[in-house]
This record gives sequence, structure tokens and C-alpha cells, in this order.
Amino acid sequence: MKCIICGKREALVGGMCPECFLESKKFVNPPKKVELSICPRCGAIKLGNNWNYDLNRDKGIDKIILKETSLEDDRVNFTFSWKIIENQNLLELIYNIKFNESEKSEMYQVPLIIKIQTCPRCSKFSGDYFESILQIRSSRKLTRSELDDIKDFVLKTIEREMLKNPELYILKQEFKDSGFDLYLSANNSAKIISKKISERYGATVKESPQLAGVKDGEKFYRVTYSVRMPDYAEGDFIKLKNERFKILAIKKGQIKVRNIENGNIGSITQKDFIDKEYSIFARKDDVENAIVLYEKNNEIAIMETKNYATTIVKKPPFNVSKEVLIIKDGENVFIVDNKI
Ligand SMILES: [Zn+2]
Ligand SMILES: [Zn+2]
Repeated sequence: MKCIICGKREALVGGMCPECFLESKKFVNPPKKVELSICPRCGAIKLGNNWNYDLNRDKGIDKIILKETSLEDDRVNFTFSWKIIENQNLLELIYNIKFNESEKSEMYQVPLIIKIQTCPRCSKFSGDYFESILQIRSSRKLTRSELDDIKDFVLKTIEREMLKNPELYILKQEFKDSGFDLYLSANNSAKIISKKISERYGATVKESPQLAGVKDGEKFYRVTYSVRMPDYAEGDFIKLKNERFKILAIKKGQIKVRNIENGNIGSITQKDFIDKEYSIFARKDDVENAIVLYEKNNEIAIMETKNYATTIVKKPPFNVSKEVLIIKDGENVFIVDNKI
């Protein structure tokens, strides 16, 4: 059968030859516009909401065209080329459309919008933008290792949030004796991070927004998250209603404790803990070494390693070896387990 249009070549599709089929209509729906942002410092390209550090402008334009071009008829294939029409903010797009051995081209002009925007990584170094301050504080002086532990946890939490939010970066870090301040680029992430810290350490969080100006026509607030560490920590020894406990773990508002005299393990909410008026009688680092001299009935005679002082103490709720760890509450001495 011959083509119904030209009557010369063999009909292949819809009664038409490939040439006449290609000429019968438009095949391409080009993008309505091509829009991207370029970082003036490093050349990174923002497509949609994501920054791409491995693309340049031209590859970015290619990617948008490829993603936003659709075909009226999927029996054809296309390739494309483009050029920028200077001073008119237009992109001239030429599609080469193929069907069988035949081809044709379609030409379109679409608006080209290129914005200049500093990428999050470069903003980090230009030091000019942040949305939140995360303040980590403690009512007592933290030991070096406690501070390191908290710092480690906070930075790892931020790293995890960075994977979810490419706009998040740390602008500035300020370390002090009583804690540290982190200037963060993204308030939504800062809020999540402060919550995670409070859950991990049983800290309280106070939010204070402060008007910082106008951004994109709207009032812009910077929020300070003041995260206050409790005065007790894992490994500390506390007294609650005349019972003495070691704090084993603090997690999600719960404090897990072990009674150091009978070995019973229990859990108490932080709120109850505070309401019941606890006192801290020794810190984690106050644990000392001693040597067992002899055991008799329910008692053990020990000698402190540091000053050779001997004391009779009550047998603890576990078996002891020759060397033990002790903790003191005033005149009272207890053998403690070093296991958490
Ligand atoms: Zn034809
Ligand atoms: Zn950049």
C-alpha cells in the first residue's frame, strides 16, 4: 500500500510513509521554561530544590530539558541541541526526531531563567547566613570527657540531618567551659536536632525566636535553642528517699537506675525524678580502687589503694574479686560494680 499523503512511498504507519508521518504533526512538548540557579562561588547548580556539585551550567540545562520534554507519540525517538539567545533570556531548542530511517527537526524557544544563588557549602565559608543557634549548656561544669561525648553526639546528629536536608550546614562553632554554641543554617533541622539531644541526655530545651529582619518579603526569625543538660549524668550516684542508686542510662525522659545496696534495677521518669528531690552524692569519676583484705559473714574488710585506709563495708549484691571499686557517701563506703 502506498502512502495516503504522497502516494509515492510505502505506507508504514497510519497509512503514511515515515516521511509523511513525521511531517503530519508536532511530536515534542518542550519544557515550559528552563530554570536553574548557579552558585557564583563554586559553580554548583541548583535544579528544583537540590544542589548538584557535579554539574556545570550546560549539563544542568541538558538535564532539565531531558527531564521536562515529553513526546506526543512514543513511536519516535529524539535527540536535542540548544543555544542561548543572548540578551533575551531565551533558549533555542532544536529537537531531532527520528522514525525508522527518517528524521526531521522541531525548533522551540523557551524562557531561560538563570539565578545567582550562593550554595549552602559556599555560604558556610562566606559566614553570612544562619537561622538558628543551638546552645548546649549545663548547670554544672562538665568534665572534658562528658563534653566530648556530648559534642560527638551533637555533631553526629547534625551529620545525619545533613543527609536529609542539603541546606543544613554549621556556620560557626564556639566552645566554652560550660558548653558550646553551634550556628546552624536551617531552623527546621535545628529544632529536630535539639529534640534529639534532649531525648538522649534528658536535657531541657528552651526556644527563643528573635526577629532578625525580612527574608523573601516575610519576617525572618532566628531561633535560639537553649539545651540545658541535667546536673546528673550516666554513671553518677544519686540518693532518692534514702536509697542510693547508680544512674545506668538516660533515654527519652527515662532514667534507668540500679540500687547499689541491693542490686535492684528500676526506671523512673525524669519528671518524677526531679519532683522527688534527688541528690547527687558522687560522680562517675569519684569511683576509687580498693583491695579486699578478708570477707566475714556479710561484711568485707577493704583497703583503699590511694591511702591504705582500711574500712569494713557491707557485702555488695554481687561476688567480689581481690580488687574492687568503691564509692563514698560521706562516711559510708560501698563496693560498686563497674558494669553499666
Ligand atoms: Zn508519504
Ligand atoms: Zn558554591
